[in-house]
Amino acid sequence: MLHSTATDPGSPPPPAALSHLPPPMVPTPERVLGEWRDEAPAASDPGPTLIIIAGVHGNEPAGVHAARRVLAELARTRPAFRGRFVAISGNRRALASGKRFIDRDLNRHWSASQLAAARERVAAGTAGAEDREQVELAAALDPVLQAAKGRVFIVDCHSTSSQSAPFMLFADTLVNREFAAAFPLPLVLGLEEQIDGAIFDHYQGRGVVTLGVEGGQHASPEAVDNVEAVIWLALRHAGCLPEMPQAEAARHQAHLREARGSVPWIVEVRYRHGIRGEDAFRMRPGYVNFQPVESREHLADDRRGPVRAPEGGHILMPLYQGQGDDGFFMTRPVKPIWLALSARLRRRRLGWAVKYLPGVSRDPADRATLRIDTRVARFYPMEVFHLLGYRRMRREGRLIYVTRRLHDRPGE
Ligand SMILES: [Zn+2]
Repeated sequence: MLHSTATDPGSPPPPAALSHLPPPMVPTPERVLGEWRDEAPAASDPGPTLIIIAGVHGNEPAGVHAARRVLAELARTRPAFRGRFVAISGNRRALASGKRFIDRDLNRHWSASQLAAARERVAAGTAGAEDREQVELAAALDPVLQAAKGRVFIVDCHSTSSQSAPFMLFADTLVNREFAAAFPLPLVLGLEEQIDGAIFDHYQGRGVVTLGVEGGQHASPEAVDNVEAVIWLALRHAGCLPEMPQAEAARHQAHLREARGSVPWIVEVRYRHGIRGEDAFRMRPGYVNFQPVESREHLADDRRGPVRAPEGGHILMPLYQGQGDDGFFMTRPVKPIWLALSARLRRRRLGWAVKYLPGVSRDPADRATLRIDTRVARFYPMEVFHLLGYRRMRREGRLIYVTRRLHDRPGE
């Protein structure tokens, strides 16, 4: 027996007509955009839970439109369904005004202590718009997580201010990597670690499989189409739609493959150009995501003068909107062989061997942390550590500290 709480599932808008419209602004969306589930799961097989978070940034409504289309289509076709699918809107107040945020970025400050502080401000009546959003969003997510008896997947849907092929970002654990690799989209490693307190990192820390998707340019209808294809494939890979015909899955995959174009499959973030309002940062026009740039290329200007690429590579997320504190990122392709090799090492728990590399030692204060002496180890690309599940934590003089993630393998 299937059950949906989607708004008016009986009269879904025709998807074919919708796909040619640009995404309009979203009149304040419901917190729970809709839900679909197997109402009588077998006790021995509770099934997976897939949660879509849409519009954590209010100028990125593609996920809201895509989730609504998927819910309407589920209501129309009523396919065999396992587990539970829930679509939740992110920054409702900002979505209603078409802005990235009202007072602060809702995709920051996700930790237990910051969440508690936001709850206190709400209780004290001193909360800003995003404090309320954060508290309400957590209140919508927590019961779904608590009710889940099987595996839980979260897909956090975004879009970019520049023109872009769709791509995925994730904390590089084996379970996340395995899920991400099921989509024929570019995988960006190390981007999430540049973002402190991102929502999906918070839930990833609780053992949930998490994935971020950047669907394309904010206002483009393609972004909605791309996110929709990602949601269908996520439902299939998570195990919610066990009987999705192969031809249908192939159609979604072909759509994403075409959207990816010639962008490399895996890239690693090597540099973030952080900015502040007083920098008066202005990206030079015409850059698109994954565009190759030369070392020292004149990419932008700020009050100090030209801003140049620190090294050659592929530019990512050049900033073409008023709000935001990331000017651009620089990435380089990673050879897929690294991914396969590191997965094997990690699965066989041989990743620890990295500490025997010259210049690398274990931090005496923390078993999960390695110290890398950059005088000795400067020639190891960070990708070696990334791919073995370590993330950059901090730099102290010539030492870089990297820490291995928990929840690297299922059950860990
Ligand atoms: Zn975003």
